[in-house]
Amino acid sequence: MRSEAPSTLGSNHVSRRRLLKIIAMATAPPALGVVPAGLVYAAALTKAQRDKMTPDDIIALMKKGNQRFRLGQESPHDYLAQQKVSAKGQYPAAVILSCIDSRAPAETIMDLGIGDCFNARVAGNVANDDILGSMEFACKVAGAKVVLVMGHTACGAIKGAIDNVQLGNLTGLLAKIRPVVEATPYAGERSAKNSSFVDAVARKNVELTITDISRRSSVLADLANARSIRIAGAMYHIETGLVEFLA
Ligand SMILES: [Zn+2]
Repeated sequence: MRSEAPSTLGSNHVSRRRLLKIIAMATAPPALGVVPAGLVYAAALTKAQRDKMTPDDIIALMKKGNQRFRLGQESPHDYLAQQKVSAKGQYPAAVILSCIDSRAPAETIMDLGIGDCFNARVAGNVANDDILGSMEFACKVAGAKVVLVMGHTACGAIKGAIDNVQLGNLTGLLAKIRPVVEATPYAGERSAKNSSFVDAVARKNVELTITDISRRSSVLADLANARSIRIAGAMYHIETGLVEFLA
């Protein structure tokens, strides 16, 4: 049996927030224009909605979602409704590879809901074989159309790789980033104390990871060549909240 929540300041606050959400949903125009439900409204993406979008449409929605986040105008997510609808089946539009950094949660900073995307997170957003397998599942089996590799500024894993940090299993992970440090052209001070160099390596890491994904996964490369999917990169600027999509 469900018990009534006590009338506290907290629950009053929630009620007011819910009311504001309802008002916003009733009055807000389809702010994203072509925006399908799921990326904006309460319910999760349906297969039909996802399938009719192109990879570029999906990237455009991610950009707009990030814009809403930066403006403090996030969608009125009804997570319970999303949970219930998506429990019957998931039709995510994208698979994201991002860092574990607590300040870079992809779904939050691009205003995505439950069921909108797969998200693989590992320090330094490196693509190991298991991540590649996950991406292949996401695109080839589950129908996602965008692979987004998202690095971020002030990344601790990148700093660790630059400093050649040795620590348990972290050593092996950072070794995967070391070649990127060497491959980053940079005229100034090449140290982890130089934030501009750290961010240059993070950006190079995204670029090389994208190349690496196509080289190591014929499944994803074939889908990309057929334009069924797009493999894209982005840098998240933790100071400004901007997700900068790379060309
Ligand atoms: Zn990081």
